Parts: sequence; C-alpha cells; structure tokens
Amino acid sequence: MSDDRDDPCAAPAHAGGVDCSAVLLQLWEYLDGELGQERMRAVRTHLALCSKCYPQYDFEKAFLEALADCRCTTCAPTDVRCRVMDALRRAGFTPGQVTAG
Ligand SMILES: [Zn+2]
Repeated sequence: MSDDRDDPCAAPAHAGGVDCSAVLLQLWEYLDGELGQERMRAVRTHLALCSKCYPQYDFEKAFLEALADCRCTTCAPTDVRCRVMDALRRAGFTPGQVTAG
C-alpha cells in the first residue's frame, strides 16, 4: 500500500485525472478538438505534467501541422516531408505501415 510512496511515476501517470494510456489513445481526438470540454482540460493538464506523454503529443501536433502546411501549399515542401518522415521513424512508424483511421 505504501510501496508507491516514492514512485516518481505515480503522480504523473494520473495527472489531470487520466492515466497515460487513456491520454495516448485520445491524443488525435484531442488535437482535433473532438473531445468534450472536460476531457480536453483533463488531457491538457496531463500533458503539461507528464514528461512521458508530452513528446508523443508534441510529435503528433508537429505531424498535423506538417499536414496542414501541405494543404495550404498543395504540394509539400521537401523539408516538411523530411521532417514528417523523420518524426515518424523516430516514433517507430514505418512508411507504408501507417494506416488511416
Ligand atoms: Zn502520461
């Protein structure tokens, strides 16, 4: 019961009232603004406090921003494409295995 008293992960894992797996599952919806107001706030709080989830959030945000850039210019500048592919590889994705939806 008192074993997790010194666990540095104990608090961040539930920061904002949600745990990491729930946050990671809802990241895309969060970035799209599709979660309810309360959920948005909980995820935002969690991301602000959790050093484990934040890099993932940062990556997915950069990915969406790169996609938005593509839409604006109709053709992706090489450096944006490189940035996206590089970020994908670092996150463990392999081009061609990314499925939509
Ligand atoms: Zn987390």
